[in-house]
Amino acid sequence: MAAAGLRPGLAVILVGHNPASEVYVRGKVKSCEEVGIFSEKLTPPDTISTEELLDIVQELNRREEIDGILVQLPLPPQVDAKKILMAVDPAKDVDGFHPMNVGFLSTQRPGLVPCTPAGVLEILKRSNIPIAGQEAVVVGRSDIVGKPVAMLLTNANATVTICHSKTRDLPGVCRRADILVAAIGRAGMITKEFVKPGATVIDVGMNSITDRAEFDRLFAGNAKREEAFRAKGSTLVGDVHPEVYEVAGAITPVPGGVGPLTIAMLMANTVKAARFRRGNRARELASA
Ligand code: NAP
Repeated sequence: MAAAGLRPGLAVILVGHNPASEVYVRGKVKSCEEVGIFSEKLTPPDTISTEELLDIVQELNRREEIDGILVQLPLPPQVDAKKILMAVDPAKDVDGFHPMNVGFLSTQRPGLVPCTPAGVLEILKRSNIPIAGQEAVVVGRSDIVGKPVAMLLTNANATVTICHSKTRDLPGVCRRADILVAAIGRAGMITKEFVKPGATVIDVGMNSITDRAEFDRLFAGNAKREEAFRAKGSTLVGDVHPEVYEVAGAITPVPGGVGPLTIAMLMANTVKAARFRRGNRARELASA
C-alpha cells in the first residue's frame, strides 16, 4: 500500500496522564512504527471540555491522511464520552464502538469490528478451534468486549450463552462450554470447577494484583512469578485461575495472549479502514 502511495494513518487521542492509558498508547504507537503505519499522538490536557475534544475529533475526521481515530478511554469525568465516540466518523472508527459499526456487526455487514473481540475470533480460527455448532459461553456483557464477542461467535455459528453478575449457577453454565471466554475484570475468578475438561479458554481479563494473599491464592509455588512479584510489587493476572491450565484443552496466557492480539487487530483495522475509505470500498463490499 505504501508503494502505491497509500500509507495508512492512525491518530490516537490520549487525554491527561492516566498511567495505564499511557502504557497502552505507547504500545499502539510502537506497533504502528513496526508495521509501517503513520501514527500521530494527540495529548490534550485533562481539563479539556467536551466541545474542545469534539473539535479535535472533527478535525481528524476531515484529514485525508488519517484513516483511523482512536480515543483512548477512560476520559475525564467532565467529558461526555458517548458524545465523543459518536462524533468519530464511522469509516475511521478503528475501535468499532460507533453505533453504526455495532449495527453493521449485528447485521453481518462489512464494517469495523472492536479489536479485542476480533482478536478472540482470530486466535480461535488460527488455532483451528472449531466454532460452528459449538457451545460458547461468554462471561461479561460489556459493550467493548462481552457483547461483540458474543455477536461474532453467533455470526460464526456457535451456540452462545452470555453470562453476567446476575447469572444463576455460573460454574454450571460455564461447564457447558466448548469455548469459554472470560471478560469479567476479576483476578483468577474462573477456577477449575467452571471448566469442562478439554474446553478452549480465552482469558480477556487484565488485572494487576498487589495483595500478597491474592498472589498466594493464584501463584503459590510459581518461582518465576514470585521473583517478578517481589521485584515489582505487582503482577498481571487474567480472569482465569492458573489451575485451569490442568483441565483446559487450549488456553490463552496473561500476559501475552489477548493483549498483544488486540493491538495487532488495531493495526489490521487501520489498514482495513484505509482500504475501505480510499478507493477499495466497492471491491471490499463485493467480496464480503
Ligand atoms: P466491564 O465493563 O467491567 O464488564 C465486566 C462484565 O463482567 C460485566 O458484564 C459484569 O456483569 C461481569 N461480571 C462482573 N463480576 C461478575 C461476577 N462475579 N460474575 C459474573 N459476571 C461478572 O469490563 P470489560 O471492559 O468488559 O473488561 C473485562 C476485562 O477484560 C477487564 O479485566 C479488562 O481489563 C479486560 N480487557 C482486556 C483487553 C485486552 O486488550 N486484553 C481489552 C479490554 C478489556 P454486569 O454487567 O452484570 O455488571
